[in-house]
Amino acid sequence: MIRYETDVIIIGGGATGTGILRDCSLRGIEAILVEKNDIASGTTGRNHGLLHSGARYAVKDIESASECISENKILKNIANHCIENTGGLFVTLKEDDPSYHDKLMRGCINANIDCEEVSLKNAFKIEPNLNKQIVRCLKVPDGTIDPFRLAAANVVDAVEKGGRILTHTEVLSLVREQDRIIGVKCLDKNGENIEIYGKITVNASGVWGQRICKTAGIGIKMFPSKGSMVIIDYRVNNVVINRCRMPSDGDIVVPGDTVSLIGTTSKKIPYEDIDDLIVDDDEIDILISDGEKLIPNISKTRVLRAYCGVRPLIAISQDVEGREITRGIVLIDHKQHDGAKGFITIAGGKLMTYRLMAEMTTNIIAEKLSVKTKCTTHLHPLPGSEKRVHDKKKTKHFNWISESIFGSTQYRHGERVYQILKKDMKNYGLICECEMVTAGEVEYALNNLFVKDIIDLRRRTRVGMGPCQGELCSYRAAGLFTEIANVAGDEAAKMLIAFLEERWKGIKPILWGDSLREIEFTYWIYQGLFCLENSISKDEDDEEDLNNA
Ligand SMILES: Cc1cc2nc3c(=O)[nH]c(=O)nc-3n(C[C@H](O)[C@H](O)[C@H](O)COP(=O)(O)OP(=O)(O)OC[C@H]3O[C@@H](n4cnc5c(N)ncnc54)[C@H](O)[C@@H]3O)c2cc1C
Repeated sequence: MIRYETDVIIIGGGATGTGILRDCSLRGIEAILVEKNDIASGTTGRNHGLLHSGARYAVKDIESASECISENKILKNIANHCIENTGGLFVTLKEDDPSYHDKLMRGCINANIDCEEVSLKNAFKIEPNLNKQIVRCLKVPDGTIDPFRLAAANVVDAVEKGGRILTHTEVLSLVREQDRIIGVKCLDKNGENIEIYGKITVNASGVWGQRICKTAGIGIKMFPSKGSMVIIDYRVNNVVINRCRMPSDGDIVVPGDTVSLIGTTSKKIPYEDIDDLIVDDDEIDILISDGEKLIPNISKTRVLRAYCGVRPLIAISQDVEGREITRGIVLIDHKQHDGAKGFITIAGGKLMTYRLMAEMTTNIIAEKLSVKTKCTTHLHPLPGSEKRVHDKKKTKHFNWISESIFGSTQYRHGERVYQILKKDMKNYGLICECEMVTAGEVEYALNNLFVKDIIDLRRRTRVGMGPCQGELCSYRAAGLFTEIANVAGDEAAKMLIAFLEERWKGIKPILWGDSLREIEFTYWIYQGLFCLENSISKDEDDEEDLNNA
């Protein structure tokens, strides 16, 4: 058994938990974050990646709208390498309530969101693929945000300032001593028991927070709401396109890196189902048919995959029926809520309010620990976002490497591109052609970005996220694990299977046409040609043989 001691234990490595780790580290508070899977593998990695302007909330929820626009401005400064400042349009179709346009405009003015009416001619100039049947259009400062880069950058900064993180380590229970939570008991993926003791434990485990509380007899009630999204093969739009109506299914198309995504549905699900999410056929139909109303070209593109995430809607007060649930930020000091000292739950909110949620939580932590240092996360850029690297003079530093490789690496890692693209043969060889990932970038990720397997690598570098969905890059990536990270051959083959199975989950709901042909081809390569599953040894002797081979 391994034992650690610290001031603060953070459960959950989503945007909120990683934001708290960074905030604590910047204030000199010792903290350890425990994540059962990988950074950003929960809801943080399963959303649209919309950097809200706040306009989607401006009619009904002015508080959320104001929070969004204020964080939108901060994040554009501190996280510029995770953000595309695309702008957004709200478009009204003939069938939509025409009065919503004016209501939205008034709401935006009240929430201080820049919002202007644009002529249809200008709207088509901004977004040529837009449905030509729209009747009105508003422009707002929406953008897109890459949740994987954002969460990882928070961890990198925290660790560089003394924070610690344990990924692939699950918190099994809180440790309670009378009226105080004094630590957590964990199990890592190698079967090692770990106990961590700290003055304060923060439950930032999103929708799983109810379960964490239950291990210490603390009752909070969450009402999970599933949202599904569909990714299409091309980046069919360059700005965020919203339907100008009350938020509803299939009303947004968000561009992201090399693809676009259509979102989202909203379905209440039983709490027991939060780990077994599937995208239903009817959700895909709704998303595609409503998406086409915004951008008709969607009907001509291939659907790459579908996925879903869960919003934890939390019952405030002691409401167990779910009448008083909120989509806003919920911060619970359990000392006041149910007498459990040293324990805080933070949940709800949005990806893009993660920094604010972290600040609110760390303010309570600092008060409890009598730390006077104020929050500075809104002032200090994240690693990679220190300076914008699109100055042509700087790029000539890399004139021995192709512009597209430089551009993609810089797009993903910002100023850290200088640490990645060293003058080394590794940077000439592409591992993933769809996303222009080099062996040098993979090496950087394995050594610096807390990557334990190929699925983690996908989140840090986009290996396998492009049109081929890992068909041609995943086995090369597996090879690099053996070469760079000294992973045994058998272990690398298991990683490869896990990666392909994870991809399969996303592809299965959309298996028709070209996607079906592509997956048949993938199956043919990995099972037919490589005999992948059969190559894994079943007992230890075989394993040794393989490792020695
Ligand atoms: C369909 C959908 C679309 C959305 N779109 C947007 C959007 O476009 N823009 C936006 O700003 N917001 C969006 N959101 C909201 C946003 O995704 C979430 O508010 C945010 O990601 C929550 O982050 P979190 O860190 O609080 O939770 P999570 O990301 O869920 O993190 C919790 C972490 O805790 C870990 N964990 C759980 N149990 C344990 C345990 N026992 N031990 C250790 N670790 C554990 C999990 O593995 C997980 O990584 C969307 C949400 C949904 C569902």
